[in-house]
Parts: sequence; C-alpha cells; structure tokens
Amino acid sequence: MLLAEKDDFAGGASGRSTRMLHCGLRYFETPRPLRDFLFHPARLRTALAMARASMETRAELAGDSAARLTPYTLSFPIWRQGPYRPWHLDLGFRILARLGPPGVPLDYRRLSAAEAQASLPFVEPMGGGDRLHSVASFREYMFDWPERFCIDAILDAERMGATVRNHTEARLVARDGDGVWQIGLHGADGDAQVTASLVLNMAGLWIDSVNRRAEPSARRLVLGTKGAHIAVRLPEAFQGHGIATVNSLGEPHYCLPSQGGLHHIGPTETIYTGDPDDIRVDADDVAFLLAETRHALPGLKLDEADIVHGWAGVRPLTEDPAHPKGNRSREIHDLAADGLPGVLAMTAGPVMSHRSAGRELTSAVARRLAPSRPPQTPDYRPRLPADNANAPALVAGDETTRLTHLGQAAVAEHARDLADILFARTGVGYRHALDEATVRRAGEAVAAHLGWNAAEVDRQTALTLRRIDRYYRLPRIDESGR
Ligand SMILES: Cc1cc2nc3c(=O)[nH]c(=O)nc-3n(C[C@H](O)[C@H](O)[C@H](O)COP(=O)(O)OP(=O)(O)OC[C@H]3O[C@@H](n4cnc5c(N)ncnc54)[C@H](O)[C@@H]3O)c2cc1C
Repeated sequence: MLLAEKDDFAGGASGRSTRMLHCGLRYFETPRPLRDFLFHPARLRTALAMARASMETRAELAGDSAARLTPYTLSFPIWRQGPYRPWHLDLGFRILARLGPPGVPLDYRRLSAAEAQASLPFVEPMGGGDRLHSVASFREYMFDWPERFCIDAILDAERMGATVRNHTEARLVARDGDGVWQIGLHGADGDAQVTASLVLNMAGLWIDSVNRRAEPSARRLVLGTKGAHIAVRLPEAFQGHGIATVNSLGEPHYCLPSQGGLHHIGPTETIYTGDPDDIRVDADDVAFLLAETRHALPGLKLDEADIVHGWAGVRPLTEDPAHPKGNRSREIHDLAADGLPGVLAMTAGPVMSHRSAGRELTSAVARRLAPSRPPQTPDYRPRLPADNANAPALVAGDETTRLTHLGQAAVAEHARDLADILFARTGVGYRHALDEATVRRAGEAVAAHLGWNAAEVDRQTALTLRRIDRYYRLPRIDESGR
C-alpha cells in the first residue's frame, strides 16, 4: 500500500476542523423534531444510526486515546423563547445514553436557571438574564489537535508495511489492459510512477479535480462548505466550559475551550467555490461570528479587538441535490460507471470517525482484491514522544514540547518543513503565539536531524512565519470596507 499526500499529512480539512469529538446530539437537531421525525421515519433512522456511530466513536477514542483528548463540559442554555424546549434535550440525551456503549458516560444534567447560576460560573457573565429557563450540560471531548490522530494512524500503517509520502501529489495517469493504474507521483523528492490495482481517492475537496484530470466526464462527488472560527480569550469563569447555541440561520454556533487557554467560536457554514489551496477566514466571516456571538452571549460584549487568531476549513461533503448545503452522510463511491474502474472515493467522513471509515474502506477493498498478506491488527495507542526531563522546553513552561521532541518528530514522523513539526506533529503552534525567535530556535534544534544549514534554517523560519500569517491571521473587518 502507498499513501501519498500533496501537502503535509492532515493539511486539508482534517487540520482545519472545529476539533469536536461529539456525542451525536446534532443529528437530532431539526427545526421541528417531533413533526420532522414522525412524518419522515427514514430521517429518524438515519439520525439514530449516525448518533449511534458517534457514541461508539466517542467511547472508542475516549477509551484508548484519552492522552490526545481534552474533556470539557458543554452546556446548552435553554432560553424561554428559544429554538429548543427542555424536553428536546432531555429526550435526545435519553436516546443517546441508550444508543451508546457503557463506559464513557454523558453525565447529562439539566439545571434550572437558579441552579445553573449557583453552580456554573459562566452563566452570569454569559448574559441573557431572565430569559434563561434552564441549562442542559454534559461531558464532551475536544481533539487537542486532530492532525495528531492522522499522524499516529499513518505511522501505524507504516509499521504494518505501508509506504507513505507526504508533500507528494498523486495523479491518475492511465489504466492498462490488465486493469492496472499508472499513478504519477510529483513531489519534493522528484517525480516517479507507480502502479496500483485499486486506487482510493481520499483527496477530500480535491476529489473531483483528481478524477476529472483522468476522466473529464466523471460526475461531481463533493460539495465544499466553508467553516470559519475565531479564537478569543475569555474570563476565567469560562475555563473548561463550552457553550452550544443556535445561530440566526438555525445552525450550531459553538464557543469551545481551545488550545492555549483560548476559546474558539464558530463554525460558519457557507458554500465554497474558491481556491481549495487558499482557504482563509475573510472579513465577512469575522463580522458574522462576532454578530452572532454578541446576540447569543450578550454578556461577553465581544469585539474585534478580542480576537487573537482564527482559521477556516472547507468540509468535503457529499454532493446531493436534496441537500443544498451538502449531504453529511459518509459515502464510498465506486467510479467504474464514471469511466474510472478500480477507483473508489470517500466523501463527508468526519475526522472523528476516521477509524470506522478505515474499517469500511478495508471491507470495500477486500470485496475487490485478494489480500496479499495476512491481516494485521492496528495499534491505536497514541505515539507519545520519549520524555527527557533535562531537555529545555521550546516555550518556557510548556513541558509537552521539549527541544528533543522536535528532533524526534523530525527523524521519525516524516516532517519535511519546520511548520510540519510545530503544528501537525507537536501542536505547539496551537498552544502558543510563536514569535520569530521561538520559530528560529525550533529550526536550529532540528537542523542537524534534517541536514539543514544556516541558510535553510533562515528559509524555514520565514516559511513558518508566512504560514502562521496566512492561515491564522485575520483580516480586519474594515479591510473589506465594512
Ligand atoms: C470547519 C470545519 C469544521 C469541522 N468540524 C469537525 C468536528 O468538529 N469534528 C469532526 O470530526 N469533523 C469535523 N469536520 C469534518 C472533517 O474535518 C472533515 O470531514 C474531514 O477532515 C475530511 O477528511 P478527508 O481526509 O476526507 O479530507 P482532507 O482532510 O481534506 O484530506 C484530503 C487530503 O488530500 C490531499 N490531496 C488532495 N489532492 C491530492 C493529490 N492529488 N495527491 C495527494 N494528496 C492530495 C489534500 O492535501 C488533503 O490533505 C469539520 C470540517 C470543517 C472544514
């Protein structure tokens, strides 16, 4: 097996998500749940199946990868004239508790306004006053940073015999008479050609362009919706607490505990037709998120000056005329009828269910190809760097990333650029605002491992600072004339 990634691993939507390992409640969110589910039993069946899958994923990841997740309390304020009634949440959580395996409890409770004010420190500063009816709270999990799950999975695939190449673009070239695909590889290591009996096009937002380069008439599979986030520093009362509300469009609007003691707010959901390689938060996203947060959480009095940074990604959802904003149900597409026999593609797989997606794809492959070797068992345990308490930390006080950890990531985890190490491998760039001196220090720490001279350290430092500026710096609202 060969895995090729044109950017760094998880450089697409997987590294730009809202980072939630959610319990699946959102699948029951619909404007009129009783009517919608009673009159459309198929919708109820789909919602139940997706919620069950979420609960199973939650139990699986919280069970064996707790070191990569942060638990927190997520609360839904229930407003007197708000979009949902108390019983909606009581019923939803009762169903979820029955669907999910035991072991990772939801810890659901619903507190009256007075009880919530007395026991949840953020309720008073969140604002809303007398409009508050009650607060529904439960235990939820956040990926510390999802790319790390991808890196762990890739390293495990390598352990089991896969060849992996990052910063390498793959192109479908041609299929010969025996049904074998020629695949072109183009990357930093030069160009090469390999052959494949079966191709899994897992290129997310780029799936259609990969297919259409080889077969222009291939049907469109992906609809991209952009999701933007802003990160802000909230008062101490909010630490460890997330708040879930619904925005003016009836979509989920979250304020969630994030890396570096910040909270991130979002996501937006707009159809994206722009450049898939240049996805950024724009001034309209910032204005929308600020306005919605001021409305939902008036006590925060959030202003543009409160924003520390932000990021945006585009969800590779399934194209489906019945769902104008994309179908969220995960699909495997066999492209034989599109002139691409021996090519499968997967759309709309959330990052949290990557293991079940892998299992589903393995079955799809097994139905088409005889295995070339005995099955192996994945080792899902997080790969934690060997600790060296004597090594200095990259950022004072952050013991999770010592200079030796950067070296280990450089040597053993396919990092090519300094940014690969500071973001996807160690996540240190998410926990701290990295200044030039810190980035350079990191570059010097890995230089010997990656064979970099002083000029390359300079280049890598500049590249990393450019990337931080490009992906995480936000436009001022007045830059667009608003
Ligand atoms: C704003 C937002 C919020 C989200 N929130 C959550 C959440 O809270 N929880 C959750 O579980 N999920 C969430 N998701 C969904 C999740 O992030 C995506 O559905 C998932 O990451 C898709 O993974 P993927 O591997 O299909 O696509 P991607 O992660 O985009 O991976 C596709 C990869 O293919 C590479 N590629 C493209 N073309 C080529 C080529 N020719 N050769 C080699 N490589 C190529 C790209 O560089 C990219 O890295 C969110 C997504 C977004 C955008």
